[in-house]
Formats: sequence, C-alpha cells, structure tokens
Amino acid sequence: MHNPFPEKTLVLTDLDGTLLDHDNYRPDEALPLLKRLGELAIPVIANTSKTRAEWLAMRADFSNEAAFVIENGSAIFFPDGKSLVLGSTRDEINAVLDELRTQYRFETFLDLGLSGIISTTGLPEAGAKLASEREFSEPLVWLDDDQKKASFCEEIARRGLVTLEGGRFLHVLGKTDKGRALSILREHYDAECIIALGDSPNDIAMLEQADIACVIATNRPDPLTVSAPRVLRSTQHGPSGWAELMTPLLDEIF
Ligand SMILES: [Mg+2]
Repeated sequence: MHNPFPEKTLVLTDLDGTLLDHDNYRPDEALPLLKRLGELAIPVIANTSKTRAEWLAMRADFSNEAAFVIENGSAIFFPDGKSLVLGSTRDEINAVLDELRTQYRFETFLDLGLSGIISTTGLPEAGAKLASEREFSEPLVWLDDDQKKASFCEEIARRGLVTLEGGRFLHVLGKTDKGRALSILREHYDAECIIALGDSPNDIAMLEQADIACVIATNRPDPLTVSAPRVLRSTQHGPSGWAELMTPLLDEIF
C-alpha cells in the first residue's frame, strides 16, 4: 500500500501496558500492525519510562529504527545518532531525594538493588539490569500514605523536579514530560498528524498534545481524563487494545 504522506504522520506509543503486555512485556497482538506501519513508512516512536538500554535491547524484535524517547520525556534519540536531553541527570535527582528521606518513606531503584527490582517488576535478571541503567530519572515505590505523597510531590516541585505516576512506580525526573518530547518531535518531523497511545497518568501530557489520542484500557477504576481533538478508548488491555484501536484507524487514514 502506498502512503502519499509518509513523513507527515507519526505514531508515538507508550510501552508498558500499551504496546507491551503489562505482565509478560510482549507486543504479540500488535505485531501485525507494526508490520503494516513499517510498510507505510510511518515511524513508530517509543515514548516510554524505560531506559535507553532497555529499548535498545528490545527494539530489534520490532525491526524498529525510529527515533525514541526514554525516561518519561527526559531525552530524545534520533536515528542519525543525535540526541537531545530535556530532563535532569540521575545524580541531580538522587541528591534531592536524599534530602527528603527523613520525612517520607519510599524505596528507589538504587535502594531496591537488582534483586529488589526483579521482585518488584517481575522482570528476569537481564531485563532488570537494563531497567536499572537509568540516566535521567529515579523510579520509587511509595511506602507512605496518599496525603504524604501529595506533600512529597510538592516538595519535589519546589526543588525544580517533577513526579509522575507510572503503572508500578512513582517516577522522579527533571522538568519534562512525554508531551514536551511530542511537541519537539512534531516540529522536528514537521508532522501533520500524530497518533499517540498510552494507558497511564504519565501518558496524559503526550495524549493531550496528539491529534488522535488512543487511551488503552487498564484495571484502574478511574478512566484517564484526556482532552484532545480526537480521543479513542480501547476496551482491551495492552497490545490487544493497541491493535483494537489502530486497525480501524489505519483503515480510515490510508
Ligand atoms: Mg504504560
């Protein structure tokens, strides 16, 4: 199939719970769609809380050589090898977290260590090692109540950093988000239509700047509140939901 405007459409996708199954981290149900997008020469850009090491290790399985965004909008890596850092370094972030340890109960990836990351994420050892190679953010397991969490998030903001809720962790990172990465990519590619897919609160900034926002269903009781020119919601989870929304959308656009 020939796409007359291959460079004008971009797909930006979250990985965990969106393109990848929440439990087995596999994209199986979405693979035929990824193939079809590849044939249409539409870049599928991962916009993930994952690390650069994690994405580089898995993207060969997807035959994906597009640009990608890591650690919740902290850095963009382009196919020509160039990169753009939008966030803060992990050392800067951990210096701030160390100041707050006496007032709040949480465990960071550094605290958990490799065995703790394995037991919390269910990742195999090799995957957990890649997940631990963070450059621009620190995920943490929250151990205090919700009220303390709200005040912790304010303290983080006062120190020039931000917090984002992911599927499993509260992420602390520099002042950036997945939406900021999207707007830079829109300009870089001069894109006319951006389809974004996500399932969690840390995807809202990305979904709200997309032309077509695809919200993937989760087990969370409250659906994500998303305002975009067009919002589609799946009934199925993860890659099944990805395929459920993208199949009719590609039929419609192309
Ligand atoms: Mg997700």
